[in-house]
Amino acid sequence: MENMNVSENKLSVSMKATSRLPVPGVLRNKRLLNEENLPAIDMKWYCEASAEGETIQRRVPANVAATRPKAPPVARSQVTGRKSLTATRAGLRAPAASARVVSKKPVPSVSAPRTAGSVAAVAPAPGKRRAAWDLKGQVNDMRDKVTLYKDKMHLLSGDNVQLRRNEEMMLQQLEATGTENKELSHRFRMLELDMKTVQEKLQQSIQQVAELTSLSARQGQQIAEQLQTIQELQDSKGSLSRLLDSGEIKLKLAEQENARLREEVKALRAQVCDQQREIGEKEERLHAQEMERRHLHNLVQELKGNIRVFCRVRPLLKCEAQKSLEHIHFPSQDKKSLVLSRTEESHVGREKEAVKYDFSFDQVFQPSCSQAEVFQEISLLVQSALDGYHVCIFAYGQTGSGKTYTMEGPDDMTEDTMGMIPRAVKQIFQRAAELNSKGWTYTFTANFLEIYNETLQDLLVRRSEKNVEYEIKRVSVANEELHVTNLHYVSVGSEEEVYKLLHSAKMNRSVAKTLLNDRSSRSHSVFQLRIEGRNEIRDLKTNAVLSLVDLAGSERLDKSLSKGDRLKETQAINSSLSNLGLVITSLSNKEAHIPYRNSKLTYLLQNSLRGNSKMLMFVNVSPLDENLAESLNSLRFASKVNDCVIGTAQVNRK
Ligand code: ADP
Ligand code: MG
Repeated sequence: MENMNVSENKLSVSMKATSRLPVPGVLRNKRLLNEENLPAIDMKWYCEASAEGETIQRRVPANVAATRPKAPPVARSQVTGRKSLTATRAGLRAPAASARVVSKKPVPSVSAPRTAGSVAAVAPAPGKRRAAWDLKGQVNDMRDKVTLYKDKMHLLSGDNVQLRRNEEMMLQQLEATGTENKELSHRFRMLELDMKTVQEKLQQSIQQVAELTSLSARQGQQIAEQLQTIQELQDSKGSLSRLLDSGEIKLKLAEQENARLREEVKALRAQVCDQQREIGEKEERLHAQEMERRHLHNLVQELKGNIRVFCRVRPLLKCEAQKSLEHIHFPSQDKKSLVLSRTEESHVGREKEAVKYDFSFDQVFQPSCSQAEVFQEISLLVQSALDGYHVCIFAYGQTGSGKTYTMEGPDDMTEDTMGMIPRAVKQIFQRAAELNSKGWTYTFTANFLEIYNETLQDLLVRRSEKNVEYEIKRVSVANEELHVTNLHYVSVGSEEEVYKLLHSAKMNRSVAKTLLNDRSSRSHSVFQLRIEGRNEIRDLKTNAVLSLVDLAGSERLDKSLSKGDRLKETQAINSSLSNLGLVITSLSNKEAHIPYRNSKLTYLLQNSLRGNSKMLMFVNVSPLDENLAESLNSLRFASKVNDCVIGTAQVNRK
């Protein structure tokens, strides 16, 4: 019975616990009890004991409850026996509430027996009470009831067991469900997290997709552009390949042509080699002939004497075109003689007769002769300066006869009209370069001065330096070489450098020209180039000075018109020019005293006038009839010089 109580308690708890869960077995049993087997009173108790009592209670027929009489507890105990009753009470009392309910409920006096047939056989008819005396009947009733209860108990305990099992199963299910629930919520959380991650990833992916979409759009655009570029490139490639094709054809043709030309070049080179060999041989022969010619030339010069005079008659200028040249004749073809003629009154009567003046010189240049032709005749002399001979070239003649033109060239000088000085310089530098291969090295020093009124002036400086004194001195007692104090001796390495000096000298002179009424015509200008050669192989040295002198005008001024400075000037010119003639004749006459010191000009040029030098004088003649007298004077002076034989020139070698 205690088990029963526990079972009932458990049932009560189980019912409460499982009240919300579907328990088909229990319900089925309840239904069985209520509707089929249980008497109304038992149903009421059962219903009140259950948590769902109210619901079940309503199903109990009202008339049954109402008609149930209150049976005194004593009667019941009398019928069922103390032990079973107590047990029943204890069983019913076990839950206090249930006991209370049971105590309040009257024991059902009438109930439908479970085995309706058997009960009905002994039980009184419904609505009729057993008589008080019918104790046996009552006992039977009680027994039936007890049997009924026992069955009921049996059923209930079976149900209980079933319920407990169900409960256990439910609990297990609950537990499993709880665990599952936990797992599920855990998984749910995990899934939530996963979902979040997935969402984030999805978001990122969406973003990436968006980026990729825009990127692909850009790339698509780029691809389109590149496709266009490729198309263009393909087009240009097509045109280029067409060009290439044509180019290749041309190249092939060119290569063929090239091969042919190479063959030609080969043949030509072979020819050139042969010719060069021939040329070399010829050059050798030429050199030997040249040396022979030079030797013979020197011999001739020596035989002729070392003073040579060239006469040059300038052409008529444009402004003189109407003048005649009848008084000048060039009789022979040997280019050495000149005849001037003029009509003079006869000694006999008043008749006029033609008088001829014959002159012969080493060379006579007619007006048509070019600067180049003239230079050709002096080039060997210039060469002599490189070989170590002092060389002095003068230009003598009246003003306007062409001295400056001959020596320097005109103001608007060209290659053709270059004078003797630039040509000589050019040749010297060219020959010096040629001789360089034969072991000769040369150094050149140039100076350019002017002698006016017996005073020296440096033409390589402006005239602003007035108080500078220029004095002609020997370098040393042992050395006869002369130098001028304060004079600019400019070391030059090329003809261009010399041209620059000549130009600046011309500029300096032209300034003076305007200031001093063409002083240049009344002064001697002296350009000197010192040439020092050195042959390391033969241990030879040469030292020579090439002097190119543009003398002052030789015209004799009317003395009545010459006064003051002009007179002094004229006297100075005449003096220096006549002294030059005097020096030359003294040298020719081999006099003991040579008056070099009488003029600055001869003193300065003394080394170039001595017997070991080569001297050449141009006598420049004006073609004009009105200058005939002066021309005659010049030619006479030149003839005197030409008659002089100074001696054999000596090379200045050490
Ligand atoms: P000089 O120096 O003797 O006074 P220039 O040399 O000044 O004389 O010459 C006088 C003029 O004659 C100048 O205009 C010059 O250009 C010209 N002249 C001189 N000689 C020739 C020549 N050979 N050919 C052409 N013109 C010349
Ligand atoms: Mg002049």
